[in-house]
Order: sequence, then structure tokens, then C-alpha cells
Amino acid sequence: MDGPSGSGKSSASRGVARALGVRYLDTGAMYRAVTWWMLQRGVDLADPGAIASRSGEPELVMSTDPDAPGVTVDGVDANGPIRTEEVTRAVSAVSAVPEVRARLVNLQREIIVGSLASGGIVVEGRDIGTVVAPDAQVKVFLTASADARARRRTAELSGTTVAAQKAEMARRDTLDSTRQADPLVMAADAIELDTTPLDLDEVIAEVLRLVKE
Ligand code: C5P
Repeated sequence: MDGPSGSGKSSASRGVARALGVRYLDTGAMYRAVTWWMLQRGVDLADPGAIASRSGEPELVMSTDPDAPGVTVDGVDANGPIRTEEVTRAVSAVSAVPEVRARLVNLQREIIVGSLASGGIVVEGRDIGTVVAPDAQVKVFLTASADARARRRTAELSGTTVAAQKAEMARRDTLDSTRQADPLVMAADAIELDTTPLDLDEVIAEVLRLVKE
């Protein structure tokens, strides 16, 4: 499941994984966790060389339980800190660095392969259908209007406005889709699902229908 921020990927992916009784992986949480680790260590995020040279250090462990997904970095629970505005603002600079992507894509593939014995996995991100799992059985690209995405994100957060979220999401999506390494694009064989008029249950039902097809 790929798509821009606020398209409803996380809730939909978890719901689909639960319904199918399979694992769930949030790859955005991995990029966020590396970003948080680098911020804590004072790595200069304006310097891709500095990011690349530290990219092998943080040790991530992912929980792929759709009822309790999560990430630890060097043994520390990072689930709260990775959702702060500071990390959200900084993550695109880190995820644009090829050395970071190479390491995380390897880890994502290991997790995917490890899940196959237990029935499979729903993976959400930006480059899953294009780069991480080009042979995925079902590829869904979720979209939604900029207003709907900003409204959803604002409802999840406190102390922000729809206008501020819309501007922040536009900034991040532009960075994510114009970067050189694995930009956010829809895979040629993905099915696009516009979630603007749908509620969560309808999105999950539609994806399950595509899986069963
Ligand atoms: O999905 P989420 O908003 O948590 O992703 C955070 C950031 O991680 C994205 O804005 C993007 O820069 C990066 N990302 C990525 N590739 C993925 C998943 C996320 O580059 N597969």
C-alpha cells in the first residue's frame, strides 16, 4: 500500500492485515525512527554526507503485529517520539539519502520474507510497489484530495489547523516525489483508490475485495 501522507494508508493497512490475519509493516515508522535517532545525536540533517555516514548505526526492531505495531531503536521504544512535528519536518531529508534507503529496504525485505511462512504481510509506504516488493500480489495506491488529507491529519493532532497541515503535507509530498532515490510514484501495475469519499471501513472493504479478486 503506497500513497502520500494522509491518504489513510496506516489505518487501512492495519485493518486489512487484521482482516486477513497477516502481519503489518509501517515503513514510514522506520524512516521516522532513523530521523529521530539522528536528531538526538545532533547529526546535521542539511548534510546528506553526514546522514549517509551514520546511516548504518541505528538498530531498528519492528513489531509487525497489526494490533500492536511499533519500532524500537537501539532497544528504546520510539513510538511516541517518531510522531513529533520535529521528526515529521525532518524525515524527508533523511529518507532522500540513498544509503539510508538501501539499509531500510534490505531490512524491509527481510521482514517480508520472514512473514511469508505465517501467511504474508501488508506493507505500507511510498516505494513498496515500485522498489521494495515489485512482485507483491496486490498493489494499492491510496490517494485523497489535499483538503481531505489535511482534515484527517488535523483531527489526529492537537494544536494545529487544516491550513497549516495542508501546507506541511504539500511540502513533504513534493520532497518525497521529487527526490532522486526511489521517489513516491505509483507502480505501473498498482490499483489507484481515491479515498476522499470513503470512510475507513469502506476503504478496507474495497482493498479486501481487490485481494480476493
Ligand atoms: O508514512 P509516514 O508519513 O510515516 O512516512 C514518513 C516519511 O518517510 C515520508 O514522508 C517519506 O519521506 C519517508 N518514507 C519513504 N519511503 C517509505 C515510507 C516512508 O521515503 N517507504
